[in-house]
Amino acid sequence: MSSEKSEAIVLRAVPWSETSFVVTLFTRDFGRVSAIAKGARRLKSPFESSLDLLAKSHVVFIHKGHDTLDLLTEAKLSRRFRSGQIALLPLYCGYYVAELLLSLTEDHQKLNDLFEICDQTLIDLDSGFSPPELVLRFEMQLLRVLGHLPTFHLCASCGNPVQSHGSGQDTRLGIAAGGVLCPECLPGQRHVLRITAPVLEYLMEYATQPWEQMPTSIEPECRGELRFVMERFISNLADKRLRLTDFLEELKR
Ligand SMILES: [Zn+2]
Repeated sequence: MSSEKSEAIVLRAVPWSETSFVVTLFTRDFGRVSAIAKGARRLKSPFESSLDLLAKSHVVFIHKGHDTLDLLTEAKLSRRFRSGQIALLPLYCGYYVAELLLSLTEDHQKLNDLFEICDQTLIDLDSGFSPPELVLRFEMQLLRVLGHLPTFHLCASCGNPVQSHGSGQDTRLGIAAGGVLCPECLPGQRHVLRITAPVLEYLMEYATQPWEQMPTSIEPECRGELRFVMERFISNLADKRLRLTDFLEELKR
């Protein structure tokens, strides 16, 4: 058992006993951590508001080892997530960021840069920046860090270059295959989407641009198709439809 310190963002808090929560934290140094926060449900909790959803805190926890919940011993609030004061959409986008991290990462999986990317996304949502762009940027960076970015130039099945690029024609994206497909490989593929040229351009641009750059604004007429593609791609990876997807309809407008 060792005592560890890190910065953390609260992804979830579930009642554990009459007085305790089990919290899932996304930490800068240890990735996702699940820990018991004893006394956190008391009126005078030692953790105060540091365990509110998406709050950022300095935490100390005891790592108990494989298959056992860690024990949270300290949490000191450094920033609240305030998007709820702006509107519902940025609030739900923040919850969606949490659901993505809960669904696609594992406890104690160290993920370079992902804490920074999550932190900055929440700051930008709180600052009132446009949610459709912030969400797509976060999704693409998450896929990049996890090694799940779709292929865009080479066929995900045979590896040959896919010719439709730059021709203005639609491209076929294999959701299960994990990228674009050439005409020879199309037959027999499951979950294939037809992607228009401008949407493919956005996907490629967001997949390659540095995350700290403010994302390029997305034309409203492309937003619906982009959300459709990302929903399918992420549902396939997570093996389920994410709950928050139903609250993000406004991102399509
Ligand atoms: Zn092919």
